[in-house]
Amino acid sequence: MIALQIYIKGLNDDRVLRPLQLIANLFFEETEIFMNEIDEWDIKIQFEMATAESVKVRAVLLDREGHEHSAAFEKELSENLNEKDRFKQIKNAVSHVFLTVLQEKTGIIQKWGILTGVRPTKLLHRKVQEGVQKDIAHKQLREDFLISEEKIALMQQIVERQLAVVPDLYELKNEVSIYIGIPFCPTKCAYCTFPAYAINGRQGSVNSFLGGLHYEMRKIGEWLKENGIRITTVYYGGGTPTSITAEEMDLLYEEMYASFPDVENIREITVEAGRPDTITPEKLDVFKKWNIDRISINPQSYILETLKAIGRHHTVEETLEKYHLARSMGMNNINMDLIIGLPGEGVKEFGYTLNETEKLMPESLTVHTLSFKRASEMTKNKEKYKVADRTEVERMMNMAEQWTKNHGYVPYYLYRQKNILGNLENVGYALPGRESIYNIMIMEEQQTIIGLGCGASSKFIHPVTGQITHFANPKDPKSYNESYEKYTEEKLMILAELFLHEGRTVS
Ligand code: SF4
Repeated sequence: MIALQIYIKGLNDDRVLRPLQLIANLFFEETEIFMNEIDEWDIKIQFEMATAESVKVRAVLLDREGHEHSAAFEKELSENLNEKDRFKQIKNAVSHVFLTVLQEKTGIIQKWGILTGVRPTKLLHRKVQEGVQKDIAHKQLREDFLISEEKIALMQQIVERQLAVVPDLYELKNEVSIYIGIPFCPTKCAYCTFPAYAINGRQGSVNSFLGGLHYEMRKIGEWLKENGIRITTVYYGGGTPTSITAEEMDLLYEEMYASFPDVENIREITVEAGRPDTITPEKLDVFKKWNIDRISINPQSYILETLKAIGRHHTVEETLEKYHLARSMGMNNINMDLIIGLPGEGVKEFGYTLNETEKLMPESLTVHTLSFKRASEMTKNKEKYKVADRTEVERMMNMAEQWTKNHGYVPYYLYRQKNILGNLENVGYALPGRESIYNIMIMEEQQTIIGLGCGASSKFIHPVTGQITHFANPKDPKSYNESYEKYTEEKLMILAELFLHEGRTVS
């Protein structure tokens, strides 16, 4: 495919290039943006900008057919801004007019406006924390960021729900949550970019991996205990944490109880049992034994053809059977993931999936919109996978919204991804009171999340300044097995820097 060439004239700060590229990608499949003169362009956008007490931007778009569209925006620049925040405001103003002329040219309205990041609700939380009144906050979201009323209402609903579930959300900076990554799966799904290595025939590698993981849990747990830092939530993800044996799971949870501080009072422990083909009565017994609060069993779709096409290697019957088994063995907080826009699926197929969900009524339902992640098999062989168009994807999203509403579910977290179909979002719905606290923690970035195991990313949030430091464990088991001690050591050093400062109060 030949990329659409956009020539930007009149801007000379390279830092705007990336935000403009992200916005252009919302409208066209592939684009290239140039800030130096090129002979052949598909779209030329002439900018004029003036900054003093306010930033004033005007843009005129011209396409090859000679059509012209223009837009202007002015925003007062707050006083005493540091260079970084000043640039942010200028960048937003440039994005504002850029989005407006592209919307006019294409007729496509972007409901998230100029927001291209993963966590839109963070923006509203920040305004709540700053004490901005609700109607003023909404006005700013609408006017400065061009977010639609529909999405503002969704953001508001989610923020309110999160604060009802975790009333002390803004005060949890002195605690941490833990993510534990187990990088094995029975087979690899076509859309997946998680660390997921086929478990068959890898027992040697699994054993050494688990040895490293036990070590990390012990060391980090010891440090948290010594320094009086509590754990809010624990999440086992992957891969598929139930792809290891029941005995291995048993030993892992035993380690958690022995090493982590005050496990009885951790607010929530979730284990993703994502692939139904990994669930057995023995593993469910282990969950009961160690009081695992919440599990995930992920159908993705109830259409067998689709499951085959995406390489999930389990049947619809298996999903149903394992769900009922989990219920009968006492699991009373089950999440199920669905994906909108899987290959070959449209409104009819998604409607079928929702009808099947109705028979189960899990406590929470996470509705993803398919995204083409760069490294997935699906993206590499895009022509093999036929997916629904923007309008149909949106209709399916509306169906999910309506269905959840009619069945008593409330949206409680959302996140967006790049290259997501229709520039939509992933939304977590739950029956009231059954929301996952970990999901709220990871999305709203209000506290440190320590990642242990393979492919686990840690996000350290400074308890005072809120500054974020990212740290990633290796993705493949081999590198992890060779270096887990070093990675543990480095994390302990970062933790000491963040938490062992003068004047720290231990909750
Ligand atoms: S089960 Fe989940 S982690 Fe495993 S391959 Fe499929 S999508 Fe990836």
